[in-house]
Amino acid sequence: MFDYLIIGAGVTGITLSKFLRKAGIDSVLVLEKEDRPGGLCRTEMINGHTLDIGGGHFFHTKHQEIFDYIFSFLPENEFNYFERVSKIRIGDVTIDYPIESNIWQMPIDDQIEYLISVVRNGEALGMGEPHNYEEWIRWKLGNKICDEYMIPYNEKLWGVSPSEMDVDWLYKIPRVNVDEVLRYCLERKQDVTKFPAHIHFYYPKKGGFESIIHAIARDEMVNIRLNEAVTKMFHTGISWIINDTYEARNVINTTPWNDLYEALGKPQEIEKDISKIRYNRIVVSLYEHAYEHDWHWRYVPDNAVVHHREFYIGNFAKDSRADGIYLETGTKRFDENTAEFEGKRPIANYETDAAYPIPVVGHTNAIHNILDYYEPMHLYGCGRWGQHEYQNADVSMYEALKFVKRLTGGEING
Ligand SMILES: Cc1cc2nc3c(=O)[nH]c(=O)nc-3n(C[C@H](O)[C@H](O)[C@H](O)COP(=O)(O)OP(=O)(O)OC[C@H]3O[C@@H](n4cnc5c(N)ncnc54)[C@H](O)[C@@H]3O)c2cc1C
Repeated sequence: MFDYLIIGAGVTGITLSKFLRKAGIDSVLVLEKEDRPGGLCRTEMINGHTLDIGGGHFFHTKHQEIFDYIFSFLPENEFNYFERVSKIRIGDVTIDYPIESNIWQMPIDDQIEYLISVVRNGEALGMGEPHNYEEWIRWKLGNKICDEYMIPYNEKLWGVSPSEMDVDWLYKIPRVNVDEVLRYCLERKQDVTKFPAHIHFYYPKKGGFESIIHAIARDEMVNIRLNEAVTKMFHTGISWIINDTYEARNVINTTPWNDLYEALGKPQEIEKDISKIRYNRIVVSLYEHAYEHDWHWRYVPDNAVVHHREFYIGNFAKDSRADGIYLETGTKRFDENTAEFEGKRPIANYETDAAYPIPVVGHTNAIHNILDYYEPMHLYGCGRWGQHEYQNADVSMYEALKFVKRLTGGEING
């Protein structure tokens, strides 16, 4: 019997295994359905291109413990460090991210329309906060930014209509301060200290984002059983029997709960909650096309364009050919037969199992109910899927660390 069985060997599962063992809990098994660990953080080398097949992955964190953790396995000098160059294509022009700080880079007539709209946003006019996603972002950012960027981009990314989406994740959307937007336009520059995301990032010098996985998983492979999908779980009252083969006192799930529902025997008590746990899928397509700028990636909200993001691989993966570009496209919009970029056909396409947890109305309550239902049975959830929230890899690792710290009263040796 294992003390802990972990479902999934992405960054969360690997990090859990590592910290559990560091905390002196040696009886740990990780089951992974694929033939290698890494989940969304895997990379393929194709025709000289370094392709992160789960989509664009870059490393930064606000948690010093996560820097220490990563750099203890893959030293800092194994990474290149970049100042982020991310762009937005609006109509025919390409401006810097974020849109609200760079309106001054648009044609004058557009600037006037955007500025009038920002000045008249509901929040600036003192109107009450709406409780519907679309109205909320209009209230926050003004109609023009919403209609030209936020709504089309989010629809392309999530693949659901704004009316299905909750507002409880919107704290992530930057506050538009009207004074600042006007100031940036008049001064024709943005204040990068107000940047709404990490302005720098690390990217491995060799092997793509997956080299982080190789480094952290190296000592864990003895505990990871590959090609073993969890398809059946049963609680005896004392322990879990998994796939009729493994017995464990505690189980930590790092995979989407809606996918695991069948393996759990479809308990009626959480059926409604499971229906609110949804994710989207994306396709990552690789193209060869020369470029001569320094962009790392570009957002494309235009609905007439199928993909929503473009990555210029040679500008951040320095072991990659200079002419590699990959696109992220929502699976619902993707058609392998017609996919193209600048007249070229993709040389490879990868579809993710599960890309982003979708913040549909009621998702937060649903995941709390599911976790509360299983906690007395010692089945827990951790990470992007286990907690069903928008976490980057650094946050998923941090959540894994927090999970083990809670268990051990904060003590992790070594
Ligand atoms: C497009 C995109 C861009 C991103 N960009 C960044 C970024 O720039 N920086 C960043 O830090 N993070 C980024 N992220 C987020 C990052 O990928 C995740 O936070 C992180 O990979 C989550 O790791 P995880 O282990 O929780 O989940 P996953 O990586 O999804 O791992 C889950 C694992 O469980 C396995 N599994 C599933 N079902 C079963 C089963 N039944 N039995 C056994 N195994 C199973 C899967 O094969 C997988 O290996 C991005 C994500 C996406 C989709």
